[in-house]
Amino acid sequence: MIKFESALEFAKNMDILDPLSKFRSQFYIPRKSNGAEHIYLTGNSLGLQPKTTRSYIDQELRDWEKLGVEGHFQAQRPWMPYHEFLTKGMAKVVGANPSEVVVMNTLTVNLHLMMVSFYQPTKSRFKILIESDAFPSDLYAVESQIKFHNLDPNDALIKVFPRKGETTLRTEDILSTIALHGDSLALVMIGGVNYYTGQYFKIKEITEKAHSVGAYAGFDLAHGAGNIKLSLHDDGPDFAVWCSYKYMNSGPGSLGGCFVHDRHATNQNLPRFAGWWGHNKNTRFNMRQDFDPIPGAEGWQLSNPPILSMAAMKASLDIFDEVGMSALEEKSRKLSAYMEYLIKEIKSDKIRIITPANPEERGCQISIQIEKSNKTLFKRLTEKGVIADWREPDVVRVAAVPLYNSFEDVFLFVELLKESM
Ligand SMILES: *Cc1c(COP(=O)(O)O)cnc(C)c1O
Repeated sequence: MIKFESALEFAKNMDILDPLSKFRSQFYIPRKSNGAEHIYLTGNSLGLQPKTTRSYIDQELRDWEKLGVEGHFQAQRPWMPYHEFLTKGMAKVVGANPSEVVVMNTLTVNLHLMMVSFYQPTKSRFKILIESDAFPSDLYAVESQIKFHNLDPNDALIKVFPRKGETTLRTEDILSTIALHGDSLALVMIGGVNYYTGQYFKIKEITEKAHSVGAYAGFDLAHGAGNIKLSLHDDGPDFAVWCSYKYMNSGPGSLGGCFVHDRHATNQNLPRFAGWWGHNKNTRFNMRQDFDPIPGAEGWQLSNPPILSMAAMKASLDIFDEVGMSALEEKSRKLSAYMEYLIKEIKSDKIRIITPANPEERGCQISIQIEKSNKTLFKRLTEKGVIADWREPDVVRVAAVPLYNSFEDVFLFVELLKESM
């Protein structure tokens, strides 16, 4: 254990000792009008731009300029198989086999596509279990799927709530609720890392419990991918979806990722919405064949994908490939522990971290609840150069992202928080 100190010199020294500190210079850090860098702690909302992104996109613009349609085969990275250039890197980030991962569409779209396949309610088995404070888009998606099958969310949607006086969910409560609904449960669909509290749920245990009652298990990993070292293949959920603009630094609104476990790779009985990009690559252009899905996650693709967004993602994945999730997790835990230490040093009973204290149950997001505060506190922080995230009524969410945030960022943030309170 490192003995932390609440001092700028200490934080700066931590940065000198940090083997990943060199990566910060590979990103554009937003600046104030006076030219000074912001303290950017919102990599959980929009990750920063790698300095290499522009050249990756430029390459595609130049190939399009020079080659026109021939770029599909003759571009430096041919557009026809472009998504394949992302698969290996993305699979490493989420701990999956390449055959289990595809980059396509956007998150909520993928969630719907996965529920077409993995939510097939019957008269007796029709319920979906979700965490009580799920991200709104997830809630809209599951409710609308339930209604699409002519069912009533009041009967079919089961929410697991924190216990009275608690803000995070207990794994045991999730597991016992799964057991309680047993035979009537069709799908467990949970945000693997809760966007509000930063709680990381036990994917393996939840999946095993869901499977033991005969339900499928899927996870939304918008706040997991690139943040936490995931092991999707071994943990065994049926599907997972995520976006790439948060921790994955692929640019605003960039493509989503999708995981389908290998046990479903060649299952032709799963219903699915199909499109030509999911069809057998050898006969895709014969045009008049019956749909013949590519085995694995690729078989869920619909359309030929946006290459410019994929180029941005390739730039980002090349950095992740170089660093690796293990090194990122190691630094992430130190940064978060330092944040926690400094916040506790404020010694005010008004301030409370609602993110789990156990490093196994969180990534780099820390959600700080400040009693009787309001948005003016957050405005003061913003004026002082901090870019963080405010959630009503009284929570500041900050993410010290190991790729580009420093111990100095963390120290300065907590100093400014103290001043602003
Ligand atoms: C960010 C986020 C989304 C966003 O969905 P999009 O389809 O990419 O707009 C959905 N769910 C969760 C849990 C998120 O954190």
